[in-house]
Amino acid sequence: MLRKQYALFMSILKWFLIAVGVGNDKATGNCMLCQVYFFTNITCNYCPVYKRTGYTTCEYTPYFEWSRHIDKFHQRYYKLWKRIRCLQCFKLALKEMFFLISLILDTFKKGE
Ligand SMILES: [Zn+2]
Repeated sequence: MLRKQYALFMSILKWFLIAVGVGNDKATGNCMLCQVYFFTNITCNYCPVYKRTGYTTCEYTPYFEWSRHIDKFHQRYYKLWKRIRCLQCFKLALKEMFFLISLILDTFKKGE
């Protein structure tokens, strides 16, 4: 498996584990896409998420909705890692997972 598919797969796995209630979101700290693209290039420009949306730091993706939801409704857990705490959290984690799954085909495009 190529590096970009591996990074995407690991990110999908992260969100699957969050959705089923055993995973945590440590933002860039446990995102394999950030590890591969952001930390090596100091830019989101080569990340499949950026390529889809045209925005850095996952703006305008379900991750943004997830972050906003956590900040608004679960702020008292601020010092803990983000994880599922209500039905909406669950829905947004799944939404992020399916968004990432939808990027798989993009990574096989010619010349990338
Ligand atoms: Zn919630």
